[in-house]
Amino acid sequence: MGLTPRLEDFDHTTHDSRGIVGVKDGVEYSISEEEWKKAHPEHRNTECKECTFASNIEELLVFNVPKEMRDKANHRPEFIGKFTMPGWTGHSGFYLFKCEVCQEICVDYPHGYRGNGCLYLRCGQCGYEIVLTPRKYGDVYKRDNVVPPPTFWKMIKTLWALRKVKNLKWFEGSEDERRALQKPLNTEDQQKLKTSGRVPTELES
Ligand SMILES: [Zn+2]
Ligand SMILES: [Zn+2]
Repeated sequence: MGLTPRLEDFDHTTHDSRGIVGVKDGVEYSISEEEWKKAHPEHRNTECKECTFASNIEELLVFNVPKEMRDKANHRPEFIGKFTMPGWTGHSGFYLFKCEVCQEICVDYPHGYRGNGCLYLRCGQCGYEIVLTPRKYGDVYKRDNVVPPPTFWKMIKTLWALRKVKNLKWFEGSEDERRALQKPLNTEDQQKLKTSGRVPTELES
């Protein structure tokens, strides 16, 4: 019987209805809750000076967000600090906003991912999602060290560059380049072309 790999040696781990499963070289090993917790201590128990512990979102909103700030909340999410919650192994930036749809004052942290890999915030009341586009909310990505997806314009630029390579060459390329993309002609076709007078120069020898 082989040894169970150490937690940090697994290629990846999954959490689902079967519990915690670690995968190493295609073999699955079940990991006990206790073992996992030992290897991943809750962030609240670390000495992190950057964040504050909050037991849940409601308490965070009431006790950690000053009333004046809650009263001024609008549709644009505002950073209110970094927090950690029960069971978390890290912390996250939290944002205060007024839901555009139900007008509820909400607090949430960025979740992944929506449309093109954007983070989003969700209204706790109605579930409305604010998709955080990197162009408008670049600071959110920076703050939590999340690599933002390319902006719309960056994507257009990339697509255009690809088009240039694939298609524009076809249209703008020299006569030689265009011919190189065509199938070599068989003798019969060459003969036909010759008689029609449209024969490409290199075939005339
Ligand atoms: Zn922290
Ligand atoms: Zn809402």
